[in-house]
Formats: sequence, C-alpha cells, structure tokens
Amino acid sequence: MKQLLPMGYSPIEKIQEDLFDEHKLHVSVLREDKNHPLIQGNKLRKLTYNLLNAKKKGNKTLLTFGGAYSNHIAAVATAGKKFGFQTIGIIRGEETLPLNPTLSLCKQNGMELHYEDRTTYRLKNTQDYKEYLRNKFGSFYLIPEGGTNYYAINGCMEIIERYDEYDYICCPIGTGGTVAGITISNQGKSKILGFSSLKGGEFLTQEIRSQIHSVLNDKELTDAVLHSFELVTDFHFGGYAKITEDLLNFVRKFYSSHQIKWDLLYNGKMAYGVYEMIKQGFFPEHSRILLVHTGGIQGIAGIEERNNIRIYED
Ligand SMILES: *Cc1c(COP(=O)(O)O)cnc(C)c1O
Repeated sequence: MKQLLPMGYSPIEKIQEDLFDEHKLHVSVLREDKNHPLIQGNKLRKLTYNLLNAKKKGNKTLLTFGGAYSNHIAAVATAGKKFGFQTIGIIRGEETLPLNPTLSLCKQNGMELHYEDRTTYRLKNTQDYKEYLRNKFGSFYLIPEGGTNYYAINGCMEIIERYDEYDYICCPIGTGGTVAGITISNQGKSKILGFSSLKGGEFLTQEIRSQIHSVLNDKELTDAVLHSFELVTDFHFGGYAKITEDLLNFVRKFYSSHQIKWDLLYNGKMAYGVYEMIKQGFFPEHSRILLVHTGGIQGIAGIEERNNIRIYED
C-alpha cells in the first residue's frame, strides 16, 4: 500500500503556440496522465484514500459500477490487483464478446465482471439493490460509479496543491469530484474553469457545490471557495462520449505539435474549449493558464474500436 501514496510527481509542460503568443498567454499542461505507471490520472487520486479506508476497515473486496469503457472500472481492477483486493465490476449493459480493451484489461487483472441491463443498473444506488449485491457477493467496500465520494474528493485535493501561480486552472468534468477537489485546495487563488463532458450539464454547479460542502462542512466556506469556480457547458460535442470530425482533427493536430495525447471523452473537449475561448478573447492578456490532463488514455483503444477509427497513428 505504501507504494500508492507518495505518488509520482506529475510534470508541468509549457505549450508553445502562435495563438497563445498573439493573445499574450502562458499555457501549460499538468500531466496527471503521468502520475502513476499503471493507474494514471484522476482515477488514481480518487481511489487512493478509498483504498486506504477499505484496508483500514478490513475489506478484502472492492465493488464498483461503470460502463463497458469506463476509466474508473479499469482503475479499480488495476489498483485491486496491485494492492491486494479482490474486485467486482458491475457493468452497465450486456456482455459483448470478445471483450473490449477496457474489460479485457479488467479481466486480466482478476476483476469479476457482472453485467446488468440498463433498467436494473439504474437501481444501483437503492438499498434493495445493495442488499441483493451483499447476498450475492458477501461483504465488500463499495465505490460509486465514477469513483466520486468524500475520500475521492480528498484525493483530488492533492492534484494542484503545489501550484498556485496560475490565473486559470482548467479541468474536465464527469461527476465533478475532481474539479471539486481542485476548487477546495485552490482556495480562491485561481479561477477554476470546469468543462462539462455532458450535454445539459448545467446542474453540475449545484452538484459540485454539494460535493465541496461534503468536505468543508460549512456553508459560508463552501460559497467562498465556489466563488472561484465557473462551469463551461459549450464543449460537450453533442453529449457524453460523442465525438466529431472537428474534435478528432484538433486532438490529432495537438498530438503532432506537442506529443501529448488527449482522450476524447474529457480532455480533448476541454482543450478544444480552451482554444476556442482564447480565440474569442475570454482570457485577459498575460494570463497564466493551466490545463489539468486528467488521464483517460486507457479508453482511447475502446473509442477507436467502437467508432472504427484510428485516433493516433502510434
Ligand atoms: C472520470 C474522468 C473525468 C471526470 O472526473 P470527475 O471527477 O468524475 O468529474 C475526467 N477525465 C478523465 C480522463 C476521466 O477518466
């Protein structure tokens, strides 16, 4: 377990681009995709304190939920194997064989996969369903879909704790747990821009507010830190996991110029959004902007398979 905690340090890379010079901006990427050789990105941050808590409570099994391409499911399977837990993944939808790259990785890491049809899957947070799972699998430590809970947010607070010289910190959003942690630890020093990967993500500010409150447990303090947070909803590209030719061209060009791969579900959309906002003059001159690369690289193969495309040539 010790190996998990002092996480590798994530490098910061400055990005050179004519567009940034024209607008007199300083743009860097925090390479959280490099924070661990096996379980990279924000999913590692979200798991760290959950694993410690599970160990402390004497749990030997982790159980969690996710879609068939979920970065979270992959991270739980890998972390379980590495840190000595059995793992059970409740997967949304039917089994498709051969297993996609995400689920084959899970299987290789010893995860027991249990499929639920979409209707049943929707009941996953009910007491009845949890009871059913306990009867079926015995005792386990439950981690919610996407991995966000109190412990996850605490883990995400460590993402930017050493960096306070930025005017803007940009981060993609799924459940909001990652950006909630960042917003708390930033303590109002930077403006935090959260990019929704969902269509109709307008509810997320309230969601993030309650996540922040769950950690700070103080209404005024919550409102004070939330003040620095701004939700951006314009760059979902048609909805979660939807991709467009424009988005593909953007990530490919970015990779050939900067040798950084973005995943298409979260980071590609955020980075595209940042470029658009720069063109629109959103950021004042001389702003220092940090893009948090939250990982998700394991999911690229699955997206390629599903859409029958190659995203990156290598
Ligand atoms: C899960 C995930 C997110 C979303 O994180 P939340 O904490 O759910 O908002 C962002 N980026 C990547 C790569 C992810 O896998």
